[in-house]
Amino acid sequence: SDHQLEYPKSPRHMDWARFYPDFISKDSGTLPTDKRVEIADIGCGFGGLLVDLSPEFPETLILGMEIRVQVTNYVEDKIIALRAQHKGTGKYSNINVIRGNAMKFLPNFFEKSQLKKMFFCFPDPHFKQRKHKARIITNTLLSEYAYVLRVGGIIYTISDVLDLHEWMKSHLNEHPLFERLTELEEKEDKCVQIMTHSTEEGKKVERNKGSKFIACYRRIPDL
Ligand code: SAM
Repeated sequence: SDHQLEYPKSPRHMDWARFYPDFISKDSGTLPTDKRVEIADIGCGFGGLLVDLSPEFPETLILGMEIRVQVTNYVEDKIIALRAQHKGTGKYSNINVIRGNAMKFLPNFFEKSQLKKMFFCFPDPHFKQRKHKARIITNTLLSEYAYVLRVGGIIYTISDVLDLHEWMKSHLNEHPLFERLTELEEKEDKCVQIMTHSTEEGKKVERNKGSKFIACYRRIPDL
């Protein structure tokens, strides 16, 4: 349950510097205005994707959002340990995690057009018909994702559940503000490679010899 979750009144009410202290500018004592989270991993679980994305985008702030308290704490501890292990190098200073329900108040965390990438890796399938409205990709939520994503930004989805993959595709296809990447674009995107192999759920699927279905969509300009 998320009733005791706290949300910032607006993205400006968030103390982002606390999440990325290495990026604080010595002059202002705060983050430079252009240093904002630009990559979000929604339902990041145990954080494998954050850790693997970190060295690929060392200058980009990356945030995992996770609803489970213990899992969030685990990821937080893991990042603290990684930063300590690589002290002085700045490694892993660009990733962090926040506890939150991504299905609620996302625009309280991110400004319009702030994000360039959003990942939805192995989201909970909610198999039963009457539970479909709990899925993380719905028309209403896609409009929120379109709001926080900049034009040209990309939504990455991967699932081992064919039914959920079809569901995400059909909602993204129907939405006026998204278009699917071509097969070649998906194949050549390094983030697709990374998300296919780095998350804990993805590794579990590999061990069980399951399939992985991928679909990526670009945010296109408003009509
Ligand atoms: N992405 C990770 C991976 O691939 O290993 C985790 C996949 S796990 C099956 C789905 C995760 O989404 C869980 O950790 C769950 O707690 C989280 N989650 C579910 N609903 C959420 C929500 N509304 N907001 C944030 N996280 C959520």
